[in-house]
Amino acid sequence: MGLKHRHNYESLSSALKSSERWYTTSQIAGKINLAVVYPNLYSLGMSNLGFLTVHRLASSVPGIGVERFFPALEPEKPLKPPYYSFETNRPLADFDLLLFSFSYEGDFDKIPGIFSALGIPVLSQKRNRHHPVMIAGGAAVASNSAALSRIFDVLVPGEAETTLVPILQSFLDNGLDIEKIANLPGVWVPACSEEFVRPKNFCNVDLEPAWSHIVSAKNAFGGAHIIEVMRGCPRICSFCLARVIYQPVRAVSRKKIEAWLNEHPDCRDLGLVAPSLFDHPEVEDIFSMLIERKIRIRNSSVKWEKLNDNILSALRQSEVRSLTLAPETGSEKLRAAMGKPLAPDRFFRKISEIADYGFEHIKLYFVAGLPEENDDDVKETAAFIERAANAAGNSSLSAAFSVFVPKNGTPWQNEKSLSLHEIKRKIRYIKELLQDIQGQVKVTFESPVEVCRQSYLSKVGPELADEYAREAEECKENRLFARNQFSTLEF
Ligand code: SF4
Repeated sequence: MGLKHRHNYESLSSALKSSERWYTTSQIAGKINLAVVYPNLYSLGMSNLGFLTVHRLASSVPGIGVERFFPALEPEKPLKPPYYSFETNRPLADFDLLLFSFSYEGDFDKIPGIFSALGIPVLSQKRNRHHPVMIAGGAAVASNSAALSRIFDVLVPGEAETTLVPILQSFLDNGLDIEKIANLPGVWVPACSEEFVRPKNFCNVDLEPAWSHIVSAKNAFGGAHIIEVMRGCPRICSFCLARVIYQPVRAVSRKKIEAWLNEHPDCRDLGLVAPSLFDHPEVEDIFSMLIERKIRIRNSSVKWEKLNDNILSALRQSEVRSLTLAPETGSEKLRAAMGKPLAPDRFFRKISEIADYGFEHIKLYFVAGLPEENDDDVKETAAFIERAANAAGNSSLSAAFSVFVPKNGTPWQNEKSLSLHEIKRKIRYIKELLQDIQGQVKVTFESPVEVCRQSYLSKVGPELADEYAREAEECKENRLFARNQFSTLEF
């Protein structure tokens, strides 16, 4: 990094740091120093409770120095190497441990660029004791740890709450000896055992919910505090990874959330995080309590069948202007196959009710390319969107399509994913069917190339290491991340 680049990096990171509020302390230097790496945008990392929890837990261990690193501080502007830590601008390769937090398999593709910028070999067998110990955890590691098994020294497919502190304590007591942590539950050291054994102990989220101990004004919740209110989902959608990796289902009680709020009296906006928030057994009570305390609610998608007057009015009082619902498909046959039934008449009545409540925008999520989907199913989805647009009255409506990707561990893990050609054909067909209402409904699609890449990354095995090693070799400083742009945040 030239002087000018370094100056730009330092001023941008300083501006971001000054937009943060901290609720715990962290030591910058210790007996062991680690950096927690979020391999994507700063704003995404600071909205991610997995990444924040790893940082918070590591910071709680006396003797551990903790910093952060993000390879992009602004959308579409990856940093140029050499890389420095976010807090103190210290060279990243000098840390004892680098802890990567992977939420999405797509972020695996950042590995060649980051490793090559740090001068760290991608293949773990080519590294030596002068290199940092490379550790990876997060939902994507829980989903496909085999893909990273020849890249990282330690994989943590289990929950950070039950694994991280014992790992760090062992390093403090025994030095950076990864063999000594190989038998910890939830941890996989590929050099010591061929496969990962899923642990049986899970964290009690009601005792220790995940929360944003650092609140950044740039997070995806508009600078709100964030708290996890439920881990896991009681529903059984056949394509969904969340129901698999976050089991068993555990809820944070209203009482606990209230106690947490008492400890954070400055909280005026709160992002509630759960794979399926509206299946929380006390969701209505939690909403009422937040409204009574004059705290604005921030949430992601809603379960249409749970939207009653109390909840709709709590959301309006929180100045929520847009609601996101996920019918997934307009085809009754496919909804039955995925285990997500829906009564169409009730659904469209609910859309009208939402519009009557004054929500300005309604967004619907669909998945294209589901197993056994044919053109008739796609036609049903197009007709469904048209009906929804009519029911939405004065509210604007949009439809966002993702494409089915089979995920490990789900009932549909062995189903076929669409080829690039098939995805493009499907998108063209949906657009054609919806052309009569194109002025009325905004329709968006995932990038077909990215979908194909996701399908590959969710299934690929240890051979991924060879591909990334080759790619890292090819990485020249000015071409880093050429293939992987950093996504823009969508609120
Ligand atoms: S898609 Fe949503 S409702 Fe279905 S299992 Fe996953 S998180 Fe639950």
